[in-house]
Amino acid sequence: MLYNLKQILTLAEEGGYAVPAFNVYNVETVMGVIQAAEEARSPVIMQLYSRLVTNGNSDYVCPVVLEAAKRASVPVCMHLDHGSGEEAVTIALRNGMTGIMIDHSTLDIEENIALTKKVVDTCNLVNVQVEGELGHIGKAADGLSSAFTEVDDAKRFVEETGVSALAVQVGTAHGHYKQAPVLAIERIKEIKESCGAFLVLHGGSGVPDDQIKMAVKAGIRKMNFSTDLCCTFIESVQKQDPSKIAIDIIMKEPIEKVKEFCLSKIDVLGSRGKA
Ligand SMILES: [Zn+2]
Repeated sequence: MLYNLKQILTLAEEGGYAVPAFNVYNVETVMGVIQAAEEARSPVIMQLYSRLVTNGNSDYVCPVVLEAAKRASVPVCMHLDHGSGEEAVTIALRNGMTGIMIDHSTLDIEENIALTKKVVDTCNLVNVQVEGELGHIGKAADGLSSAFTEVDDAKRFVEETGVSALAVQVGTAHGHYKQAPVLAIERIKEIKESCGAFLVLHGGSGVPDDQIKMAVKAGIRKMNFSTDLCCTFIESVQKQDPSKIAIDIIMKEPIEKVKEFCLSKIDVLGSRGKA
């Protein structure tokens, strides 16, 4: 069943766990994710990166996600990941997304608030909630940032924009880590206590399980996994015997591997059996 961002994250808040947010790219990754969610009875967020929305892919992938959500007996939210601006947000809403992330985290806080609020106002008209980002979550390849999201800034950002969810910089980054990150658990707790938004952790791939568990305990309610899901899928595709020819046969194992990957993260986030 299709849930909006607020509905699905409210379940997580009440249950004291985090909803896994897996990036999907094609029919096969959608199948792997939904099979894992169904098997584990876990709510799940399937999200599409902004590029896939502005380049036309989402016009094909979103109907697949919506069909999966319709058939599923667990809550599913379809979310825009790192929305780049008005174009991505508008297309995502047309595609039927039930959650929107707008990322203006590279701008100063005043501009970030103004542009994010505009998106919140638009999305409110169609009962879709927004995830903003404050404290830029960069690339792991550029090294880890210690410019963590400030508690007072987070409070102000949430109050003035009206976002339902907030991506915070507490020690993670996107891509492959050179060394395992150490998360600012106390900062997560402080932000959680001061602001009313559901907290989101990006860059989940490669974060040690014990760190993830502590982050969830401290208040993280949505955690994103893209890099490891992509690598899992691609590695499996590369191992297939091309003489099998038929793509659906070749894709069987990659779908299974994506499912196994998702199940492992569902367990770490504590969302198994919660749907
Ligand atoms: Zn991200």
